[in-house]
Amino acid sequence: MRKQRALFALVCLLLGAVSAGLLLGQRTREYKSDQFLMDTLVSIRVYGKDADKLREAVAAAYAEMHRIADLADGFPQPGTTAYRISDVCRINEQAGLKPVSADKDVIAMLTLAKKYHSLSEGAFDVTIGPVMDLWGFGRNDPQVPPPGRLGEALALVGSKDLVVNEREQTVFLRKAGMKLDLGAVAKGYATEKAIQALKRHGIEKALIDAGGNIRVLGKSRRDIPWRIGIKDPRKADALTAVLALEDSAAVTSGDYYRYFEAGGKRWHHILDPRTGYPAAENMSVTAVTADAGLADVLSTVFFVLKPEKALELAEKLEGVDLFLVADDGRILHTPGLRGRVEVKAGEGYRHDQGR
Ligand code: AMP
Ligand code: MG
Repeated sequence: MRKQRALFALVCLLLGAVSAGLLLGQRTREYKSDQFLMDTLVSIRVYGKDADKLREAVAAAYAEMHRIADLADGFPQPGTTAYRISDVCRINEQAGLKPVSADKDVIAMLTLAKKYHSLSEGAFDVTIGPVMDLWGFGRNDPQVPPPGRLGEALALVGSKDLVVNEREQTVFLRKAGMKLDLGAVAKGYATEKAIQALKRHGIEKALIDAGGNIRVLGKSRRDIPWRIGIKDPRKADALTAVLALEDSAAVTSGDYYRYFEAGGKRWHHILDPRTGYPAAENMSVTAVTADAGLADVLSTVFFVLKPEKALELAEKLEGVDLFLVADDGRILHTPGLRGRVEVKAGEGYRHDQGR
């Protein structure tokens, strides 16, 4: 009897060990990798069972992001390999001269940009390059440009003179001196490409954070929606809201990402193409939609528009939601975010419930 009991105990122990081993082998792992890319820290987190597969998938995702970053890079020195690889540099160089063959992803970004240029009635304009250069946000010595020079640079801005030929896969800037700047779209577009690469590698759960451009794949590790923090635009470590997100993107444009102070004012990097000065309607806007490329375009579109106009446009667009902190401290969002967004507000903000 005692022997039988001992044997039973041994079998139980063995079964326990085997199932624990199986469970361990089946355990969902997290693999996380960060890289500095497109002027920001990009972080990719993926979940799955096979460590090698996770690593391969992330490598493929980064390869896609680098490819888009290289095509859209507006800053390399003329004559360098990086300059030759950049479609944006070659298109800018041939402004006023001739159409340039471009990669299908550049054509796709520019087609998207032109569509939202029209829909936003000019608030979004990727030909903002000459004006961005004058402000010099990317340089060590940004400055408020003299009004006269701003006027000259503004005369070169206008997406109606950006000719995208989808059939021939060419791009042409009609006027000499025109200049593309894909800063408002390339990061989100690259993020979406990276997510698609992860999917092709069999990944079902992932989160990419590319400096305010968030895209999640599936649900979180605990099989509930991901919880995404929306930063307080005036307090570095505080949150204004937490957003529940599943298989979707949430991209934030804010006046706190890149700015300088002069004459007691904050001068930031998102410009109103109609004036050449930083857009002053909002502190931060978050566009929520399935595709990270579209979300990136929309974040900039909504940022430049007046809050009411931005909300009106967001509600008109299928599958698009918007959360915003207006310049006067009002916190507003589309009805679609009700129950999905937890507003923390904080001092200096008013959460106008009801929208
Ligand atoms: P985002 O952070 O996505 O809103 O993008 C801001 C970047 O887009 C800036 O750093 C510029 O490179 C570019 N940009 C600034 N103003 C505009 C605008 N009105 N339309 C399109 N791109 C813009
Ligand atoms: Mg954007």
